[in-house]
Amino acid sequence: MQQLREKIDSFTILLTHKNRAEEGKIALNEVRGQLKDYKPLSIDLDSLRAKIDRFHKIDAVFVKNSQNQDLYSKIRKNSRIIDMDLKSAVNNYKRLLKEVKICPICQNKLTDEHLKEIKL
Ligand SMILES: [Zn+2]
Repeated sequence: MQQLREKIDSFTILLTHKNRAEEGKIALNEVRGQLKDYKPLSIDLDSLRAKIDRFHKIDAVFVKNSQNQDLYSKIRKNSRIIDMDLKSAVNNYKRLLKEVKICPICQNKLTDEHLKEIKL
């Protein structure tokens, strides 16, 4: 009795699988039928290419812009360093002139007035 029941169960399972397979076959045939009538939408390739080109151009500009920003910040940093170097060089020069006490322009004794005349 138990064996018979198991056989019936397995047969039922088999039948279910068979039914599913049949259903799948029908669905597949339906899809095939639809595909036969299906015509791909015409794609405007030129317009698509133009859009892709435009995207590439924007991308290139973006990359260039970020490179320029890097360069700009490097230049700014360098110019600050150069500026500081220049200021310290000017200060050193003025200190040296005060020590020598001779005006580099008129060769007279260097006073504060002479020092103001020296534009650095
Ligand atoms: Zn002078």
